[in-house]
Amino acid sequence: MANRRFSKPPEGSIIVLSAPSGSGKSTIIRRLLASLPQLRFSVSYTTRAPRSRERDGREYFFVSEDRFKRMVGAGEFAEWANVYGHYYGTSVRQLRRAQRAGEDILLDIDVQGHHWVRRRLPESLGVFVIPPSYQELRRRLVDRRSDSPEAIRKRLLAAREEIRHWREYDYVLVNDDVGETAHVLRDIILAARQRSGCQRRLVEKIVKSFGG
Ligand code: ADP
Ligand code: 5GP
Repeated sequence: MANRRFSKPPEGSIIVLSAPSGSGKSTIIRRLLASLPQLRFSVSYTTRAPRSRERDGREYFFVSEDRFKRMVGAGEFAEWANVYGHYYGTSVRQLRRAQRAGEDILLDIDVQGHHWVRRRLPESLGVFVIPPSYQELRRRLVDRRSDSPEAIRKRLLAAREEIRHWREYDYVLVNDDVGETAHVLRDIILAARQRSGCQRRLVEKIVKSFGG
């Protein structure tokens, strides 16, 4: 039986998930959040328009370009980037809150954002999701019916560049079966929680009980 005195939650992990657009990252995240309710999702700010299934404050905070630029000026973003012609930024406040509370937080950001996170927070975990092939990626983008042919063209072009960065990540998941991919990602996050660095406070208490 667990000793309640030692049941304090471990310090949280920062998990970065990147993928070429259309690989299935959002679908995986939806499943993951449903199966790991204690996992926080970092809700980015963006200037792009919401898709039909998206809700303000859940997938993104949808803001005007003016507001985004004011937030940049006020230092409200840990990192921000222009991706496929729109601005996207990670909220400093959300990151700090999760870190203070010792919670795991998942960042859905592109390869530029991942560079920043790795430099500033080297203990973070990088996971790259790729589709089984370029042809399958194109099929998924077209079937999703959320982007214009021009936007799809831009995303496919960017995918050729983005996919070259796969070696920079700790894990690479080929999203063939989405249920399987979400399952593996869940296991990665659960295993990350057991890293010694994430369990410092808890283990130090236990060690103290040994008189050390
Ligand atoms: P992303 O967030 O990476 O841009 P989405 O999650 O929106 O991608 O997925 C793109 C499209 O592909 C969606 O229509 C989604 O239902 C579909 N999809 C996602 N994963 C798979 C998969 N493993 N097999 C087939 N279709 C998938
Ligand atoms: P989408 O428009 O398909 O939701 O996202 C486009 C790209 O922007 C994805 O690669 C996504 O990971 C990335 N993205 C979303 N939010 C952020 C963010 O806050 N910072 C960075 N750098 N990229 C982001």
